[in-house]
Amino acid sequence: MRVGCPKEIKNHEYRVGLTPGSVREYVAHGHDVIMETNAGAGIGAGDDVYKAAGAKIVDTAKDVFEQSDMIVKVKEPQPVEWAMLREDQLLYTYLHLAPDPEQTKGLIDSGCTAIAYETVTDDRGGLPLLAPMSEVAGRLSIQASATALQKANGGSGVLLGGVPGVLPGKVVVIGGGVVGIHAAKMAVGLGADVTILDRSLPRLRQLDDIFNGRVKTRYSSIDALEQEVFAADAVIGAVLIPGAAAPKLVTRDMLSGMKKGSVLCDVAIDQGGCFETSKATTHSDPTYVVDDVIHYCVANMPGAVSVTSAHALNNATLHYGVMLADKGLNAILEDHHLRNGLNVHKGKITNAAVAEALGYEM
Ligand code: NAD
Repeated sequence: MRVGCPKEIKNHEYRVGLTPGSVREYVAHGHDVIMETNAGAGIGAGDDVYKAAGAKIVDTAKDVFEQSDMIVKVKEPQPVEWAMLREDQLLYTYLHLAPDPEQTKGLIDSGCTAIAYETVTDDRGGLPLLAPMSEVAGRLSIQASATALQKANGGSGVLLGGVPGVLPGKVVVIGGGVVGIHAAKMAVGLGADVTILDRSLPRLRQLDDIFNGRVKTRYSSIDALEQEVFAADAVIGAVLIPGAAAPKLVTRDMLSGMKKGSVLCDVAIDQGGCFETSKATTHSDPTYVVDDVIHYCVANMPGAVSVTSAHALNNATLHYGVMLADKGLNAILEDHHLRNGLNVHKGKITNAAVAEALGYEM
């Protein structure tokens, strides 16, 4: 198969769909790999490194789309990209369609077969292609919140770890999944006072065991959520209902009860956000203020640490990517976890949660 990888074009997105190491794997399976020139610049991998790995380098994204049977990317296709997709083409990337009717229509109209990294499943009920980016975003959310809390950045001036004789800052993590646990790990590492809320009691028990008393856990009722958010210096939004838009757990009304200069970091913004006042921001202008509360809502957080992220992502996507290149659509028929990743096929939505969120027939 001809496997193509264009340069990412979303604001401050420095990751790349295929690392040179992944190119070698596809080539070893007998596939042709077509890279847009400079696609790997953001991870420090030049065209010469890709050539050495066996890729052909082309000048434009148009060349990549025209010459490839399968497109491997990182972020959801932008309008100029979905306009280049064809009916006979496979798209393998993050899509996050539920909160994005425009992109959904673009993919439907293209007729392509689109597999969303974020809905591929595994035997343990996890989302293995989302997990590495959730690990990165979770860890980064604490760095971002700690920076936003600094006075010069508009924050309250609280140091999350405190110092001897001064209490640490309070971090509240809503959603104790992959993002949540990695946020909690970093916050604990900094010495913060950390509480994780979740709706899953088994998950709360597991977190209690893992952190062995170093974090507090709380069932995520409206009451508990309000009390925790009002007392917090930083709130990390880390909930997920797979394939669906995120529930709005912190309402606009609640902001008036929060501390001035505290931070809401909405990692779930790529699913529409779990705070009512969230709107997606970019790395070049990551924060804004509503009712004296700083909002950080960058939709592609891992892009900021592109080297770590691109390698972590490729570790997770390579297996199914090579399987798709080897077997085409048969790979989807043979593997039900990959089948769960199928979101759009021949002009139809094929993922139940996405169809329900956007009012499409399956
Ligand atoms: P996950 O499935 O591992 O965890 C989600 C957790 O949310 C689960 O434990 C679930 O029980 C919990 N939850 C669901 N409803 C809840 C509620 N009402 N109250 C409290 N908890 C609730 O998901 P994840 O991998 O941690 O991802 C979390 C979010 O972060 C997703 O929306 C994902 O797309 C997003 N994400 C964003 C970025 C970014 O750059 N902004 C990067 C990676 C992941």
